[in-house]
Amino acid sequence: MPRLLVIGGMAAGMSAASKLRRLRPEWEATVLEAGPDRSYGACGLPYLAGGEVRDASDLYALGEDEIAARGIEVRLRQRVTALQEGRKRVEVEELGSGRRRPEAYDALLVATGARAALPSLRGLSGENLFTLHDLGDGRRLQKFLEVEHPRSALVWGSGYIGLEAVENLARRGLSVTLINRSVRVLRDLCPHLREKVVLELEARGVRLLLETDVGEVLSSGNRIASLETDRGSLAADLFLVATGVRPDTDFLRGSPLPMAANGALAVDETCATGIHGVWAAGDCCEVTHLVSGRPTYIPLGTTANKMGRVAGANIAGERERFPGVVGTAVTRVFSLEAGVTGLSAPAAEAAGFSVETATVDGWSRAGYYPGGGPVAISLVSDRRGRLLGGHVVGAEGTKGRVDTLAAALTAGLRVEDLVHMDLAYAPPFAPVWDPLLVAASALRNKLRGR
Ligand SMILES: Cc1cc2nc3c(=O)[nH]c(=O)nc-3n(C[C@H](O)[C@H](O)[C@H](O)COP(=O)(O)OP(=O)(O)OC[C@H]3O[C@@H](n4cnc5c(N)ncnc54)[C@H](O)[C@@H]3O)c2cc1C
Repeated sequence: MPRLLVIGGMAAGMSAASKLRRLRPEWEATVLEAGPDRSYGACGLPYLAGGEVRDASDLYALGEDEIAARGIEVRLRQRVTALQEGRKRVEVEELGSGRRRPEAYDALLVATGARAALPSLRGLSGENLFTLHDLGDGRRLQKFLEVEHPRSALVWGSGYIGLEAVENLARRGLSVTLINRSVRVLRDLCPHLREKVVLELEARGVRLLLETDVGEVLSSGNRIASLETDRGSLAADLFLVATGVRPDTDFLRGSPLPMAANGALAVDETCATGIHGVWAAGDCCEVTHLVSGRPTYIPLGTTANKMGRVAGANIAGERERFPGVVGTAVTRVFSLEAGVTGLSAPAAEAAGFSVETATVDGWSRAGYYPGGGPVAISLVSDRRGRLLGGHVVGAEGTKGRVDTLAAALTAGLRVEDLVHMDLAYAPPFAPVWDPLLVAASALRNKLRGR
């Protein structure tokens, strides 16, 4: 019986194993997972902290019965420590006993994801320091909140995980400070839209300190007491670091698998690594950015699920492709919804485009219709009118608008194509001129020199 060995039992790994077993039931699929949990939605962790998700077990994507019914064997607390590709086997350490053994494969999928990357700063550890990356982090934070009743929190990092942590900790009644080294918010929102997010955070009582450098960590006993920054000393009961992630591929350094400088594995459109029988998918991989055409690292659950499925199909002998991403993401910041897709203006310039932008403020529904709220949209194109990216921040409807832009980017549309795009309209959902069409029109006018 041929055997697929999967390293990592989350989105990418479980998608691949499920797909392979569906297409080739004669294959054996074994998943080796270093952690104590399998197949959960890490995306729900901020809402577990905030209480909207009640129990950590609610985040499991697949129950044990479902996994068994798919004919997948998941072995927990098994860490793969080395790849011996010439012998088609890996070395596995059983966590707990420390015993090591080889495991053979016919096909190997590396789906080891990413790990939280903490800034290298002496003393950055303690009972009240948290990351929000896996279910263990989520459980630990939930327990700390319930048992210790902290009153203040400092969140370090203003990407979407940091913003979601801020919202959820504030919802629990904590007084929250958000710091970030640069001025960037949610990847790279343009200044006008970033300002909307900043105002919303401040209106909700969040103390926001962008462009803040941390110099030193001061501890008291087993806890962090304060971060010493160029804006002064910042004390809190709880510290949460969300300054980014890096691919969990250290155990593959020195192997022939092609790897970017940050450790992300390079794969082709079929998720093959180029090493015979070895595939990779998810947050441990680079992907192609469909706008710049260059490799990029944008680790997201949507991509991990798709890549896993494509890898599973190709291991099964089908021909499936994962062409790449346009970098679409959306998040909620209290009553605002913020979304990004494609390249920001600085990213487009760095990729060699000569850039034009337009930003408009509109309303989410027909003006006379009750409810709704402001919507701000910023579009980026090259000077010949090719759409390169867009940002949306609004009271509602952001996902639909940013998804429309993502579809336009995927299809390689021009600003002109967007101007008269047949978007749905009815008063409860949009004005007759959707803000997206208004933004496209404004950008076209700028491109025409008006
Ligand atoms: C707080 C939070 C919120 C998020 N929100 C969103 C969102 O709203 N939308 C979105 O699209 N994405 C979101 N994401 C990202 C999404 O969760 C990830 O992109 C997705 O989980 C990646 O799946 P993966 O299978 O590639 O890797 P992972 O989920 O990281 O799983 C990899 C697994 O491999 C295991 N492993 C690692 N090394 C080894 C080894 N050597 N041996 C054995 N096992 C190993 C790890 O223990 C881990 O369980 C969020 C992530 C977090 C943390």
